[in-house]
Amino acid sequence: MNIKDWFLKKTEAFRAARANVGYSCDVCGREVFAYPKTRVCEKCLSRISFNDGLTCPLCGRKTLAAGLCLACKSSPPAFDKGLSPLVYARGVSSIINRLKNGQRHLCYFIADECVRTLNAYMGTSLEEDPPVLIAVPMTKQKIEERGFNQAEEIAKAVAQKSGLSDLTGVLFKARETSPQKDLSAKERRENVSGAYRVKNREACKGKRVILIDDVMTTSATGNECAKVLKRAGAREVIFLTAASLKEQK
Ligand SMILES: [Zn+2]
Ligand SMILES: [Zn+2]
Repeated sequence: MNIKDWFLKKTEAFRAARANVGYSCDVCGREVFAYPKTRVCEKCLSRISFNDGLTCPLCGRKTLAAGLCLACKSSPPAFDKGLSPLVYARGVSSIINRLKNGQRHLCYFIADECVRTLNAYMGTSLEEDPPVLIAVPMTKQKIEERGFNQAEEIAKAVAQKSGLSDLTGVLFKARETSPQKDLSAKERRENVSGAYRVKNREACKGKRVILIDDVMTTSATGNECAKVLKRAGAREVIFLTAASLKEQK
């Protein structure tokens, strides 16, 4: 381990310890007296866009008008419902980038928001017919490069907070895909096609699955994973992401 990695590991360990006992904002470190009820200070909160206005009834992204978003109208996704507490805009993208760059403690704030959204949508059925959690996987090589999978970190924190079972690992990524960001919607679908597989079909049979990821942009990844999970017998797939890109004009 080089000195930079060692230093990152130590500072992250310190932040993670502080994330559960401290009185400082998870994002900027400023003092927060209502901690841990509120993990983020008012200043940081003001930079975060919550997905609390008009949303697409299918994929859950923020929309410009009531009803389905353009993407769902032209090609409805294979998942039954998309949920995301945050809108992928400036302040939120910075939190997600920090998480990906090693500030793993940020998954607690994200999980708080995810569980709140999940509770609001599922109500008592969360207890009566409990779903299982599955994180969108990364390839082994990618995990080795980054050191962790941020979707898994979010799923773990959601499991901790909600008491739902985390079946991450049932789904795996069989091959590397190109970065989605420079591709068209059609290319994104082709890029992920066939990349995900189910390891244990029995574990999926008849289950309600909450598929977890950090961001939904076009929903191509969620769509592909949902297809695979449904082929393996999942009864319902809800795609829960920390943030989603709002409907584009
Ligand atoms: Zn702050
Ligand atoms: Zn939609």
